[in-house]
Amino acid sequence: MENKIRNVWERGLDLVFPARCPVCDKPAPYPELICPACGGRFVPVKEPRCLKCGKHLGDEREEYCKGCRVAAHKFDQGRGLFEYPSMARSMYRFKYAGRKEYARFYGEQIAKKLGKTIRGWRPDALVPVPVHAARKRERGYNQAEALAGEIGRRMGIPVDFRLIKRVKKTLPQKLLDDRERQNNLKRAFKIARNDVKLKRVVIIDDIYTTGSTIDACALELKRAGVEKVYFIAIAIGKELK
Ligand SMILES: [Zn+2]
Ligand SMILES: [Zn+2]
Repeated sequence: MENKIRNVWERGLDLVFPARCPVCDKPAPYPELICPACGGRFVPVKEPRCLKCGKHLGDEREEYCKGCRVAAHKFDQGRGLFEYPSMARSMYRFKYAGRKEYARFYGEQIAKKLGKTIRGWRPDALVPVPVHAARKRERGYNQAEALAGEIGRRMGIPVDFRLIKRVKKTLPQKLLDDRERQNNLKRAFKIARNDVKLKRVVIIDDIYTTGSTIDACALELKRAGVEKVYFIAIAIGKELK
């Protein structure tokens, strides 16, 4: 019943404020979440894919991408839906320019195209990568939370919004090299509860690049007793050269 009321309410809101298209940022024709002309502009990550992080592999004889061959990742497996370059501008607006609403299209696409993979992992909960409280105040929301909320709602999987806390204000990862990235994230995350009963968790983030953020979260989750940690990202970077 609660769901029904919320859906009616949301549909009402859609009529007054149609969803903005995550590609061109113009209002999409109701009830669509993207305009027809823009459909297909985000490029899905194609096979062959890295068995660990899901990045597209340039060489099909390999099983893992270069990044996963050199790094000892703390997470078990993960997937990204779209190639980052094809949606860089959309991601920027989603993160920094108030376009929280894009989470609806992104979440819909993830549930549709990666839903089977997610179910196969049999997760107890989805856990969004937290941002520091000060950053969240600045931007008004955490894009990973918005995304996790959409995926959870569409797939009927609980979302644990408060399990991981970001206790350190870190520099943007894109400004740093590999080693600086890892140092930057050291002790950046903390588990907020003493008794974590979850055994299988899917971390939700907007972009996967080197995996250092997911690793930092996965390390804390495993220390707290979580057995399997997976990740889902809406965008994934190219294989390292
Ligand atoms: Zn459009
Ligand atoms: Zn990989």
